[in-house]
Amino acid sequence: MSQTDPQYKRVLLKISGEGFCPKGEFGIHREQLDRVAGEIHAVVELGVQTAVVVGGGNFLRGDRFADQLGIEIATADYMGMLATVLNALALQEALERLGLATRVQSALAIARVCEPFIRRRAIRHLEKNRIVILAAGTGNPHVTTDSCAALRAAELKADVLLKATKVDGVYDDDPERNPAARLYERVSYNEVIDGRLKVMDVSAIDVCQQHHVPIIVFNLLKPGTMRRAVLGEHVGTRVSES
Ligand code: UDP
Repeated sequence: MSQTDPQYKRVLLKISGEGFCPKGEFGIHREQLDRVAGEIHAVVELGVQTAVVVGGGNFLRGDRFADQLGIEIATADYMGMLATVLNALALQEALERLGLATRVQSALAIARVCEPFIRRRAIRHLEKNRIVILAAGTGNPHVTTDSCAALRAAELKADVLLKATKVDGVYDDDPERNPAARLYERVSYNEVIDGRLKVMDVSAIDVCQQHHVPIIVFNLLKPGTMRRAVLGEHVGTRVSES
């Protein structure tokens, strides 16, 4: 296998809202937006079919927002889902600036702005090498876009779920607080669930385990890491059966 042969035919990438702004900041910033688009470009040019689930935490997270404003949690969650639509539309523009074909599909109907999420249609776009950006999470409150990423990875039959973070992978402690925290190269679904390791929501891990979708947790801030992961190099932490 040459160095430019991807290991995966179809990937699902999960980008948290924090990927769209500098650390501790709010909203969407041009530099970070273009960086995310550039990292996706590097994967797509390998011929890999790419779906992207975007988070919305750079605008708001339902639970915290509900507390702060005294809003019903479900309403705050719908607001969070709408925040992901903002990121999806910005990412679409950034990818199209790079000459890439994209479609945004939303789990909440926003007919004038984007398509609804339809599994078969999403797969057709992927087969035509269009990047499918999945907005509005699952369309249901009380879950997060991590769960959405796991569900979509399963139903779109992605070969791997690529979970972008701001650290190198999964650690036995918070690496930002504890410099001695140890990075796992590999970890099983059960170890993540039983050890309550901070990877994704437990429900998301459970879905990946049930549907045999491996997860690669990698550092979005290190250029080219996602491309290397897709080429089969060991990067970050791999979560799988064993
Ligand atoms: N959300 C939701 N249902 C979903 C996905 C998201 O209710 O299926 C809401 C929830 O309030 C969440 C917010 O949207 O806090 C933003 O998503 P998330 O926290 O997953 O974004 P990230 O942390 O990845 O930026």
